Amino acid sequence: MSYRIGQGYDVHRLVAGRPLVLGGERIPSEIGLEGFSDADVVLHALCDAMLGALAIGDIGRHFPPGDARWEGVDSMELVHRVRELVFAKEARVVNCDITVLAERPQLAPHVDAMRRRIATALDLDPDRVSVKATTQEGLGPIGRGEGIAALAVVLVQES
Ligand code: MG
Repeated sequence: MSYRIGQGYDVHRLVAGRPLVLGGERIPSEIGLEGFSDADVVLHALCDAMLGALAIGDIGRHFPPGDARWEGVDSMELVHRVRELVFAKEARVVNCDITVLAERPQLAPHVDAMRRRIATALDLDPDRVSVKATTQEGLGPIGRGEGIAALAVVLVQES
């Protein structure tokens, strides 16, 4: 039995007229993330961390933007597909830790709902899924509210 670690990062721009979906959870907001899919940075970072742990490419390679199949896709669908790729390598996710970088809206009230959704998608106990939210104290483009970013770390066990 061996363990492998993976990390993922994603950022999308905030714009008017888009829903805000983070960790599979629809967050009440006047503005949302721009992107080809539903632009869920949390799930995109998570997918990249899972793929990275097994060194099997990245989300852009498996789900190329511009491919009509992924236009407007619910990113939970991408998580399910990446989970299948992990299974195909006879591996499983042990736990994940995700940090969301957002100046607004306040995400603390939504963190546990995100954890539950991700835990369900990965068939994990929610205490193996961590989602944390932090601001940038007004610094840089995220701090100015121009976008939202997410970082993810995943531990995978190979059997
Ligand atoms: Mg993305």
